[in-house]
Amino acid sequence: MALAGHCECGGIRFSVDESALLGTGYCHCSICRRLSGAPVNAWVAVDPAALAVAGAPALYRSSERGQRAFCPTCGSQLWYAPDDGSFLTLNATGFDDPEAPALRPQVHIFDADRLGWFEIADSLPRSPDGSLPGG
Ligand SMILES: [Zn+2]
Ligand SMILES: [Zn+2]
Repeated sequence: MALAGHCECGGIRFSVDESALLGTGYCHCSICRRLSGAPVNAWVAVDPAALAVAGAPALYRSSERGQRAFCPTCGSQLWYAPDDGSFLTLNATGFDDPEAPALRPQVHIFDADRLGWFEIADSLPRSPDGSLPGG
C-alpha cells in the first residue's frame, strides 16, 4: 500500500510503499526541534530507493552526517537523509494520513536532549541518543 504526502503548499509530493518502512519514532534532538518548529519531531524511516518525489526540494546540510530536504516555497521540512544513503527519515506529519497505523511512532530517540517541560506520557522505549533501543 502506497503512503503519500506533501508539503504545506503542495509543490512537493512524495509517496513510498508501506513495505519500504524501516521504523518510526520521535526525535528530541535540537536540530529536529529547530527545523520542524516543534518540541519533538515524528519521523518515518524508509528505504531511500523506494521514495518517489514530484517537485524540487531544496537541501540544507544540517550536520556533517547528512542533509534535510524542505520545500523552497512554503518551508515545510520533508525529510532527513544521511550521506551514507542507508535510510531516509520522512517527517510523519507530512503524510496525507499521519494517523495511519504504519506511521505510529514506536520509539523516542535523543531523549537526553528532550526539553524539560515536554513530558512523555507513553511507555515507548527511549534511547538517550540516535541509537535504537535493543537494535
Ligand atoms: Zn511547499
Ligand atoms: Zn533529530
